[in-house]
Amino acid sequence: MTSPQHPGSRPASRIPVVIVGAGPAGLTVGNVLRAAGIDCLVLESETRAFIETRPRAGVIEEWAVRGLEQRGLAANLLARADRHTACAFRSEGEQHRFPYTQLTGRHHFVYPQPLLVTDLVREYADVRGGAVRFAVRDVRLHDVDTDRPSVSYVCPETGARQVVHCDYIAGCDGARGASRAALPADRVRVARHDYGIGWLALLAEAPPSADCVLFGLHPDGFAGQMPRSPEVTRYYLQCPPGDDPENWPHDRVWEQLQRRLAVTGAPPLTQGPLIEKRVLDMHDYVVEPMRHGRLFLAGDAAHLVAPIAAKGMNLALHDAFLLADALTALVRRDPDGPRAADAYSQACLRRVWDYQEFSQWLSEVYHGSATGDPFRAGTTLARLRRLFTSPVAAAAFAEQYLGTADRY
Ligand code: FAD
Repeated sequence: MTSPQHPGSRPASRIPVVIVGAGPAGLTVGNVLRAAGIDCLVLESETRAFIETRPRAGVIEEWAVRGLEQRGLAANLLARADRHTACAFRSEGEQHRFPYTQLTGRHHFVYPQPLLVTDLVREYADVRGGAVRFAVRDVRLHDVDTDRPSVSYVCPETGARQVVHCDYIAGCDGARGASRAALPADRVRVARHDYGIGWLALLAEAPPSADCVLFGLHPDGFAGQMPRSPEVTRYYLQCPPGDDPENWPHDRVWEQLQRRLAVTGAPPLTQGPLIEKRVLDMHDYVVEPMRHGRLFLAGDAAHLVAPIAAKGMNLALHDAFLLADALTALVRRDPDGPRAADAYSQACLRRVWDYQEFSQWLSEVYHGSATGDPFRAGTTLARLRRLFTSPVAAAAFAEQYLGTADRY
C-alpha cells in the first residue's frame, strides 16, 4: 500500500518502531525496545480489558520462560506458574505416563495466556512508559519497502484517520491482522496445511482431573485435557471441521470427554460449567520470508501452528526475542544491525518448521485411531508403543515436545 493521502487527517508524527498487535509477540518486542530506551507505539484493535481476559494458550516451554526472565518479564510467571514434569497418553482404557523432565531435566510451565498478556501490558505501558493505543480501527501499513514507511489507523474517539511515520514496523497482529496482507503476494510464499478435522476447544470451570496434560486416543476421536489453574481446565474434543458449537450441549461434551479419556481404575473427570466453547478448523501456515523491506512479521502473523503440541505462543516469543534484538541494533545503527535483520527470518523459521513437523507427527498419533482406517490405526499405535519401549524414540520426543534442541 502506498502513502496515505487522507484529507482531514491529523499532522503526521514519527517514531522509530510501530508495533501492530498487543499479543505476546508485540508486547514482548515493545518491552525489550523500551528497556533499550527506544520509542515505539503499539497499536491494538481490541480494548485492554479484552486482551487481558482472552483465553488461549497455557503451556510455555522452559527456554521461553528463561528468555522472558532474562528480559525482566517473568517475575509473576515464575511466582505463580505450575511446573509440569510429565504428560500422559490414554488409549484402550490404559494410561501411559511420559516423564519428560526425567529425560531432559526441563519443565513445561503452565501459565494462562491472559495472565502473561496482563503482565506484559502492565510492564510495557505502566512501568516502562511504552505508548499504546487500544481499540484502534482499520489499521493500514504503507510504503513498507521504502525507508519511510508509515502506519495509519482510525482513532476510536474521533473517527479521524491518524498517520504515524516510522523507521520500522513489527507486524505482530496475529492470524487475522493487517500486516500479513501488506506483503506483496509475488515476494512471499505462504505454505498451508489443512488437517481436515476440527477441535472443539472448551474451557471448564472445574479443577483438572489429572496433574498433567492428557491425550486421549479413541475411535470416536481425540480428546485432551490441559490444566490451566486449580479452578479452570482446558479440554479438547475432535469434531468435524466447521461443526457448530451448539451441536455440543453440556451433557454431550462431558459424555464424550468421559468416554474418550476413560482409564480402567481412574476416577471420572471432574465436571463443571463450560465457559468457552468454540470450534477450531485445524490448519497451519508459514509465510516465507517473514520480512519485506522495513516490515517484519512475528508470531501468528507469520505462522500458525494448530494447538496440537502447544507451540504457537512459544514460537511467537522466540520470534519476538530475535526481532527485538534486530530492531534494537537497527535503530541504534549498530554495525551488526543489518546482518541481524537479514538473518531474522531464517533464524525464526528453523524453529517454526521443526515445530510444524512435530505437530504433524503428533497429529497422526492423536487422530489416527479415529480415521476408521485399520492401517492408520495400526501405525498410530506403533508410534505410541515406540515412545514407551525405545529410549531413543522417547528422548527424541521429549526434545521436540519441550523444544530443547540446540540447533535453533
Ligand atoms: P495474538 O496473540 O493473536 O496477538 C495479536 C494481537 O493483534 C491481538 O491482541 C489482536 O487483537 C491484535 N490485532 C489483530 N488484528 C489487528 C489489527 N488489524 N490491528 C491491530 N491489532 C490487531 N500456544 C502455545 O504455545 N501453548 C499453548 O498451550 C497454546 N494453546 C492454545 C489454545 C488455543 C485454543 C488456541 C486458539 C491457541 C493456542 N496457542 C498455544 C497458540 C497461541 O495462543 C498463539 O500462537 C499466540 O497467541 C500468538 O501470539 P501473537 O502475539 O503472535 O498473536
